[in-house]
Amino acid sequence: MYKKLDILDEKDERLRKISVDAKLPLNKEYKKIIKDIITELTYSQIDEYAKKYDLRPGMGLAFPQLGINERIIVIVHEVEDGVFDEYVVVNPKIVSNSNEEIASEAGEGCLSVNRDIDGHVKRYARVTVEGYDEDGNMIRIRAREELSIAFQHEIDHLNGILFYDRIDKNHKFYTEDELRLI
Ligand code: ZN
Repeated sequence: MYKKLDILDEKDERLRKISVDAKLPLNKEYKKIIKDIITELTYSQIDEYAKKYDLRPGMGLAFPQLGINERIIVIVHEVEDGVFDEYVVVNPKIVSNSNEEIASEAGEGCLSVNRDIDGHVKRYARVTVEGYDEDGNMIRIRAREELSIAFQHEIDHLNGILFYDRIDKNHKFYTEDELRLI
């Protein structure tokens, strides 16, 4: 039976903490939570299920959003219609980034933020992320564009940062001349 995740709302202080490294390999409980996150993120991006279970679409979730202040992130990226790449990274680090910056033209959303927030969030166009899989094997992921934004958004959660912290209040929107919008 599918049970929806309890995702913390932005007002919860636990979202503002710096999370600690997770111990590897992950225990069974955490592996189960990761499975549940992947299911929910996938469902949320399939119209039929999103409607059925009343899910807001989301492509990423970080453990602190479930009240667990440990450094684990999950991303489910739709690469083509109905085809999803799944990423689970424990103790992720951005080890390199492009000089080029981008922003999502429509702005960013977050499963912990239940309201619309206007403004572009500047992100690196490309990042390389290193970390570990659930069993403690080292992994390295090169991400670009939308996926790069997702990794930066989720890693921010591990440091107590929400996407709107990064919106410049004096310059909420960029033009295409100032920043490449995707
Ligand atoms: Zn978020």
